Order: sequence, then structure tokens, then C-alpha cells
Amino acid sequence: MRIAVYPGSFDPVSNGHLDIIERTSKIFDLVYVVVSINPLKSTLFTVDERMDMLKRITSHLHNVQVECTKELVINYAQRKQASVIIRGLRNTLDYQYEMTLFSYNQKINKDIETMLLFPSADNLFLSSSSIKELVIFGGNIDSYVPKMLVDEIKTRIQSQK
Ligand code: ADP
Repeated sequence: MRIAVYPGSFDPVSNGHLDIIERTSKIFDLVYVVVSINPLKSTLFTVDERMDMLKRITSHLHNVQVECTKELVINYAQRKQASVIIRGLRNTLDYQYEMTLFSYNQKINKDIETMLLFPSADNLFLSSSSIKELVIFGGNIDSYVPKMLVDEIKTRIQSQK
């Protein structure tokens, strides 16, 4: 069975993330979408909120499971018997970051590969932080996050003002 892990902060999840999840679910038998808990990174949405949103938008994908972890992603992947870690690659900043992560991961476990997927054209410039900024400054996020989450994400971000 081919198993992949797609880790991230998903703070909040965007159409870019969902696109990567849907495309990955076509390639692998089982995909773990993992909210990675990083105590050094402050997030707006709680882990439970992020997992709940991910579960709802992936309910149509029967080979996708949503989890969270405090472990190093590479160790989590090994524990889940995954052969591949999936990441999205938007630009050269992502590229540099991903190359560094890959180097560390290789030192820990050479058997787990990293696969990078380019975003679909509509999502190239999309990031969770730009979604948060757009809401704070009154911009429209309707085409950037899954439809069923638009109002919830807006309300939640506005409550932080
Ligand atoms: P970020 O890195 O923006 O804080 P995440 O940690 O939630 O966001 O990202 C998880 C993964 O999803 C990363 O590999 C990131 O590059 C990828 N990703 C984020 N936004 C997009 C997008 N719009 N299209 C494709 N991949 C994306």
C-alpha cells in the first residue's frame, strides 16, 4: 500500500491546500493530512479547529485521514509506514525552505522521499497568512478558501481584531 503524509500548519486551510490533498489522494492509496504542532509557531486557529475544518472539506475523499502530531514529521511518517512526504512548492522561498527540510530529513531517514507538487494556477500566490491579512483589512476571501468555510474563517479571524 502506498502511503503519503501531507503536513502543514493549515492556519487556516486554503483552496491551495485542498488542491494538493485532492491531487495526492489520486496518486496514493492512503494520505494522512497532518496538522503539525510547532510550539515555536503561534497560530490563530486551535489544533482542533484546524483538524475539524480539514476533516469537513476532505469528507468526500475516502482515502484521506486527518491527524495531528507533535513529532518530527519524518518520524511521524515512519511510524505511519509512509514512503513519501508531500509538500507544495509555490515559489523560490518555498524551494529554499523545502531543500533545507529535505536535507535534515535525509539525515534522519533516507527511505522516506519528499515529493513537491506545484499549485494549480489559481492558487500560486495563495498563503494562509495572506488570507488572514485580507480578512483583517476587509478584503474578500471567497475564492481562496473552501466555500463551506468562508463565513466561519472570516468570523473567527475578525474576532481576533
Ligand atoms: P505555510 O507554509 O504557508 O505556513 P502550511 O504550513 O499550512 O502553510 O503549508 C503546508 C504545505 O502546503 C506546505 O508545503 C506549503 O508549501 C503548501 N502550500 C501552502 N499554500 C499552498 C498553495 N496555495 N498551493 C500549494 N501548496 C501550498
